[in-house]
Amino acid sequence: MTMTAALATNDVAFDTSLVRADFPILSRQVRGRPLVYLDSAASAQKPRQVIDAERRLYEEEYANVHRGVHWLSQSATERFEEARDAVRRFINAAEEREVVFVRGGTEGINLVAQSWGRTNLEEGDRILISTLEHHANIVPWHLLAAERGLVVEAIPIFDDGQIDMDAYRRLLDRPVKLVALTQMSNALGVITPAAEMIRMAHDAGARVMLDSCQAISHGAVDVQALDCDFMVFSGHKIYGPTGIGVLYGKAELLESMPPWQGGGEMIARVTLERSTFKGIPHRFEAGTPAIAQAVGLKAAIDYVTALGMERIAEHEAMLHALAVERLSTIEGLTMFGSHPARAAIVSFNLDGIHPHDVGTIVDHEGVAVRVGHHCAQPLMDRFDVAATVRASFALYNTADEVDALVASLEEVRRLFS
Ligand code: PLP
Repeated sequence: MTMTAALATNDVAFDTSLVRADFPILSRQVRGRPLVYLDSAASAQKPRQVIDAERRLYEEEYANVHRGVHWLSQSATERFEEARDAVRRFINAAEEREVVFVRGGTEGINLVAQSWGRTNLEEGDRILISTLEHHANIVPWHLLAAERGLVVEAIPIFDDGQIDMDAYRRLLDRPVKLVALTQMSNALGVITPAAEMIRMAHDAGARVMLDSCQAISHGAVDVQALDCDFMVFSGHKIYGPTGIGVLYGKAELLESMPPWQGGGEMIARVTLERSTFKGIPHRFEAGTPAIAQAVGLKAAIDYVTALGMERIAEHEAMLHALAVERLSTIEGLTMFGSHPARAAIVSFNLDGIHPHDVGTIVDHEGVAVRVGHHCAQPLMDRFDVAATVRASFALYNTADEVDALVASLEEVRRLFS
């Protein structure tokens, strides 16, 4: 029985063995050892339900969407638009047209920078980014700043990894056009007070681009409750396919924005002299979209919804607390980001041992962790390190896997002693 089936029939406690049975890759061995996958923050593994949904579409209902009059095209279009509706419900957007399909979080942020940013920002305008941001929510603003003469300023954080709210308040004293903010740090797991920060930004007359790429898989993201102007996430981090992501934008904002890419699917009428464009969201979806990937994303959303985002968060909180407790006992281990508002990620270094050595050695024990700057170099600079080791937890991880991580780190210590 699959986990979703189990939950549909009775209210069983969160049973990871049932969940794990849904993820074929988790039963494989790596380097002769059972795989311990602790790199879901980079990309989550896929349940059979997602893999099957894509295969079913290709085997039974695949054609290009929107343009066809034939049955298959209409069917594929229905599946594609059903996926949009599933996303709308999942993030509680008011309308389907506020959901734009993009390739991933990165593309969504670039779309906003290139379309909204170019239309609304001019020389000397200020953009605030937090020190916690992933490069995806920094570099598009740097590119725009260089082109337009904008000023990008950083919201500082405390040593525990949390936003310095007083400093943020002071930064908002002078006019700000945009706040680019992560809802959850991919390198530390720290959860920012996004709702409050969005309220403050709005009081100061600024728009907010919320990066929910990490937050999306660890708890409910409600765009109306948050009142963010834009929000992005990537399908592959929430057990869905790669190549699909979502840009949410408030309808009145999206409607005011010009297209950022031109081509088929997004036009109303083209003559040799000029083009006019469809309404939202199609205006922002030039070319053939990621059809099967959207269908896979819907299956992923159905999957986590059946499990319950709250129960997933509880399970991950248990793993996180256990990991913090167990890692604290390892000699010479420094953890980064101790603020209590944290989820699913532990980031640390072992004294005198390069994170890449740690990553390579634990890999030989079958434990997959991420080492490096996690596309958050300004954050690494803030902690004066070049890199950290990051273990990230997902709904399929177990307490035994936390033990395996700790045992593999003890092996690293032994080899370096
Ligand atoms: N934002 C955050 C917080 C992330 O963790 C990531 C990916 O690691 C991204 C943005 C970019 O996501 P993608 O590479 O799927 O576009």
